Amino acid sequence: MARVASVLNRDSAAIATRTLAIVQTLFAAALLVTAYAGSARAEPLAAACSKTYSPQTLDVAQPINIGQLKLQIYFYACAGGYDSDAAKVLADARAYVEKRADEVANPALVLDIDETSLSNLPEILANDFGYIPDAPCDRLPDGPCGFDTWVMNGKSKAIAGTLALFNAAKAHKVAVFFITGRHESPARREATIKNLKAAGYDGWAGLVLRSPSATNMTIVGYKSGERAKIAMKHTIIANVGDQRSDLDGGYAERAYKLPNPFYYLP
Ligand SMILES: [Mg+2]
Repeated sequence: MARVASVLNRDSAAIATRTLAIVQTLFAAALLVTAYAGSARAEPLAAACSKTYSPQTLDVAQPINIGQLKLQIYFYACAGGYDSDAAKVLADARAYVEKRADEVANPALVLDIDETSLSNLPEILANDFGYIPDAPCDRLPDGPCGFDTWVMNGKSKAIAGTLALFNAAKAHKVAVFFITGRHESPARREATIKNLKAAGYDGWAGLVLRSPSATNMTIVGYKSGERAKIAMKHTIIANVGDQRSDLDGGYAERAYKLPNPFYYLP
């Protein structure tokens, strides 16, 4: 106490007032904690959750305004959120592939192409998130940009984390298969191969495009059927896609879902 008194004497009265206020606040906080702890003991959490609750779907009266939604997605795509979310998923996939590669016989990795291995963001943004299947694409960064023309031009860039995953898989002797929803034709296959190579992918074990016989199948049916064929000779340790339909249907130890707020393929 003598020491406290000497400090008070040495310093200003203002400090003494502030010190007193702090002590009072701490004392009040201690009282509150004691009171809360007492009530928590008397009323445990289990008692508060004694009823049975069901999952709720919120009843939103009106859809979200599409203009605001687009602005939100532009921000997500262009301000780093999209890239960092994708990078996190791909780092997880890579860690698993590198760990698991030596533990199974004939390991394989399955990759989707669009918005998984290659980014079509210039086409997507040029069309303001609209899908234009058949049109020229010669006004970028403005639209319109027809998707098929964009694919034939082969200017998509690699999604960096996927290319890193691809190379890590190859380094661990994991066979990499692309399974894409792009429709099979000689020209489209050639353009896809050229684009994959220009983006840095090389040395894959298989490239499956959607054959005419698979056109009327669901995406889940088509893609899981192709994985089933691969799984006859390989253990698919990871499957990476940007749509649930790339991943559902099994035949892979782990499925990794990349973000894609731009379009939906059921
Ligand atoms: Mg895709």
